[in-house]
Amino acid sequence: MKAIVWQGVNKVGVENVPDPTLLLPTDAIVKITSTAICGSDLHLLDGFIPSMEKGDILGHEFMGEVVEVGKAVKKLKVGDRVVVPFNISCGVCDYCVRGMYSACDNSNPNHRMAEALYGATSGGALFGYSHMYGGYAGGQAQYVRVPFADVGPHKIESDLKDEQVLFLTDIFPTGYQAAENCNIIPGRDVVAVFGTGPVGQFAIRSAYMLGAAHVIAIDRVPERLRMAEEAGAQTINYEQEDVLLALREATGGRGPDHVIDAVGMEAHGHGPGAALDKLQQTLKLSFDRITALRWAIQSCAKGGTVSLPGVYGGLVDKLPMGAAFAKGLTWKMGQTHTHRHIYPLLSRIEAGEIDPSFVITHRASLDEAPELYKTFRDKQGGCIKVVLNPWA
Ligand code: NAD
Ligand code: ZN
Repeated sequence: MKAIVWQGVNKVGVENVPDPTLLLPTDAIVKITSTAICGSDLHLLDGFIPSMEKGDILGHEFMGEVVEVGKAVKKLKVGDRVVVPFNISCGVCDYCVRGMYSACDNSNPNHRMAEALYGATSGGALFGYSHMYGGYAGGQAQYVRVPFADVGPHKIESDLKDEQVLFLTDIFPTGYQAAENCNIIPGRDVVAVFGTGPVGQFAIRSAYMLGAAHVIAIDRVPERLRMAEEAGAQTINYEQEDVLLALREATGGRGPDHVIDAVGMEAHGHGPGAALDKLQQTLKLSFDRITALRWAIQSCAKGGTVSLPGVYGGLVDKLPMGAAFAKGLTWKMGQTHTHRHIYPLLSRIEAGEIDPSFVITHRASLDEAPELYKTFRDKQGGCIKVVLNPWA
């Protein structure tokens, strides 16, 4: 079959690889009908996630048709149309039972590798996301092996198009969980969202769904800011304005009640803004690339939440910890527990509350994917979300 493989830092290619086969009685094989490129794939492209090997198949946002099931699979049958969460979870460990699917204790055979690399186990496994996350082949391919097939895949029985349900696999639940973690007081709270990539776009819409009185979105890419405005958000271009001042002005001096960092560790290292510049001079601190997280902490109102769907790896230094402490902030972060959001969010799609396909700007074949990885990484050509058809 055809698949997108990691060929080294900044190198992604299309290769012919063996079709997957059932390895365990709890597996299913899914023929992929739609798959997407995610901001998280950029960390792999950039070489920020250790334990990738040349030839690893990429992709963790995919859906398709079940073509084979192992003997122990009870809920799925050949022909079922399914969306598959990006996390692989056993469904029976203490974490899964408590709905913390991304912290699954049983799906990642390499959790000791994660512990050695990060000083902590990352929890569960992921499709197409390096050996420390289990080394499972991803879904930017024509077929994929899906472990724990009775746990993750969710059947789509309505006639919704792939593009309307595909993002239940990751970015819609991720944006939603980021907003849910803020415990928004409906009709009152103001939420700021740093980063208007696909995750930020769903965080903005989810914040409104959960009752936010006002949402402010921050980025520098005009097409992305425009898409945020279409959802009703006020926007700030951080290259044109001092973000911290603008957020204060927009909130009567209080700051946003909650702040979502949908950027992560690859934030552009632009100036920290006048207030942080001053702090830097006074405390003689040095700043690096985590601008969005610092802005989030500095801008958030007293008692607010800083919610991080954006991915961080390794060490982060020079955080304005004093500001976080003084304001009594709550921090929430981590991988999304995708499984628990699929049914409620699918119900919202079916009810017509949201059509997630709004975020798609590029549709292509697997052969075009290597080029589109770069287009998406560089935010060129108005690119916000790429969906691939493995059979085109
Ligand atoms: P993306 O790269 O398309 O979007 C990031 C956006 O942040 C871009 O529009 C960029 O211009 C903007 N940005 C960069 N620096 C900024 C700054 N200093 N201030 C404000 N905006 C800034 O990626 P995406 O697909 O939207 O994903 C966003 C993050 O969410 C990534 O880190 C990704 O890995 C993560 N993610 C996490 C989970 C999870 O389970 N927690 C799931 C999916 C994605
Ligand atoms: Zn993703």
